[in-house]
Amino acid sequence: MLSKGTPGGPGPRGPGPRGGRGPRGGRGPGGYCVCPACGTKVPHTPGVPCNTVTCPKCGTRMVRE
Ligand SMILES: [Zn+2]
Repeated sequence: MLSKGTPGGPGPRGPGPRGGRGPRGGRGPGGYCVCPACGTKVPHTPGVPCNTVTCPKCGTRMVRE
């Protein structure tokens, strides 16, 4: 095969419109943190991992929903 190393050509792999995932899988920026102990759900703050957030009710470390 010819490999001239042209970084401008059409690559073999491109971001297709259908990646197999749903339109919104629930992860990513946004979402919620859930307390595994009492089930309290709070909006996830971008940049702040849920496991560093404590439940406002019982103080348990929360998890990503
Ligand atoms: Zn809790």
